[in-house]
Amino acid sequence: MQNTETSPQRRSPLDYMREKMVQADSLFRNGLSTATGESDIIDLAKKMLALCDEVGQELHRICPVQPLACHSGCDTCCRNLIQTNPVFAALGLAEARRTFDKNQFDALQDRLVSQTLFCPFLFDGKCSIYHSRPMVCRGYYSFDVELCKQGDYSEKNMGYQGDGAHAAHQYMIFLFVLEKRIESIEQELGLDPGPIFLHDAARVLLESPETLDLWQSGKRGLFAGPDTGDQ
Ligand code: SF4
Ligand code: SF4
Repeated sequence: MQNTETSPQRRSPLDYMREKMVQADSLFRNGLSTATGESDIIDLAKKMLALCDEVGQELHRICPVQPLACHSGCDTCCRNLIQTNPVFAALGLAEARRTFDKNQFDALQDRLVSQTLFCPFLFDGKCSIYHSRPMVCRGYYSFDVELCKQGDYSEKNMGYQGDGAHAAHQYMIFLFVLEKRIESIEQELGLDPGPIFLHDAARVLLESPETLDLWQSGKRGLFAGPDTGDQ
């Protein structure tokens, strides 16, 4: 028998993401323009990631979902050197300082100095700063880990797939656009925008904690890797 009940109209994921992008823009712009030191920057990064988490959860609720290949301990996407923004690099390092024991922090320092070829925050197949991981890491998803092994973690090349796309794809698009928005805001405020490599930024912040203040004062080129000066 035909179902004659009227189903409630589904919220458009694109409209929702637009709405949250405006909120995220305002949060970042106001937070960065009034930040006066490291704790303000870290607080801002936490607030931005909390907003991203909220968006991810809501997209999961309103979008089509099917099982992903992603699971705890699957770390192919972390066996890379990722790029992020200075505010999230600062948060990642602060989180490591807060939660690592001495052995793990020493291991992190060794990795940062010796320039490992995988993310230095990957320990025992898991992200050691999971709740503070940068936005790019939150956007990775896959239906087939074999594609990840070939370097495709999020169907980025497919672009926006419309309102019927999987929640993970919508979220990846949101995060990608937000990262670009953040860079534009930084540029408008006279700051050196990302992207920067997480491992380079973490090493620089570890060796010279004043770097974040210098970045906020408008100084440029602070987070470059040791081998980029030859070009
Ligand atoms: S994106 Fe790929 S490598 Fe990363 S957790 Fe998912 S399936 Fe594993
Ligand atoms: S920060 Fe965490 S999630 Fe991101 S690449 Fe490194 S280990 Fe993986």
